[in-house]
Amino acid sequence: MKIYISVDMEGIAGILLPEQLVKGETLYYEARKLMTREVNVIIEELIKIGVKDIVVKDAHGSGFNFLIEDLHPDALYVMGGLRVDQRFPLLDSSFTGAFLIGYHAKSGTKQAIRDHTISSHSWQSITINGIEIGEIGLDSLLFGLHNVPIMLVTGDDKACKEVKEFLGEDVVTYITKYSLGRHAGIMLPPKRVYKELAEVVKRAIDNSKKCSPFYLNPPYEMVVRYMSTEQVDRLFCDNKRVIRIDGVTVKYKEEDLMQLLSHVL
Ligand SMILES: [Zn+2]
Repeated sequence: MKIYISVDMEGIAGILLPEQLVKGETLYYEARKLMTREVNVIIEELIKIGVKDIVVKDAHGSGFNFLIEDLHPDALYVMGGLRVDQRFPLLDSSFTGAFLIGYHAKSGTKQAIRDHTISSHSWQSITINGIEIGEIGLDSLLFGLHNVPIMLVTGDDKACKEVKEFLGEDVVTYITKYSLGRHAGIMLPPKRVYKELAEVVKRAIDNSKKCSPFYLNPPYEMVVRYMSTEQVDRLFCDNKRVIRIDGVTVKYKEEDLMQLLSHVL
């Protein structure tokens, strides 16, 4: 069995503040430790279950957040910044499933820790074929292109709720914190999370047959609400494939999903 794990930072146990999420900030190193430990717990459990091939992607910010010396020796790690067509290197249809670890709710979600879609500074919302989509949805689509289903998602309660609405009830979710605001929440102690994750990983693997890959059929129409008119002023709108709807809203029309996502990722 092969498992691909994509790891963001906002939904990792113990992470709450902007100072933990940005390189150079005072609490960033602590957050890297928390992220690395949580990943190691998951890999340890997968290996116990008998999963032989594990690829782990560092998917937050620069893509260089894992403390590389502390990483579990029995997986491969993808780190650094990459274009959308290279968002998940080594991914192909031989993978049984994917885990999205430490994820967060889409931009504009009420009382969700660090809600955003790709960047807190660039996009208000992204809708594809009428469905408003956040990073959970965007990454599920990319895994779906290789026929790989999402089997487990962890993050705050709002991210987990988004998963159920978006991917269905069969995907296993695990709540690491209950959000009270963008930077406030009821936090589960990381040590408890590590203990519980072992059972959760086992449940996700046992449940794998129930999960199916996520697809949206072409043609694609993506409506993006940007943060400012200035961003849209800089775009070339041909009024055929790239159409400005109002000051901050642009509609993109594409046949190819990767081409479509390249406008935002
Ligand atoms: Zn992130």
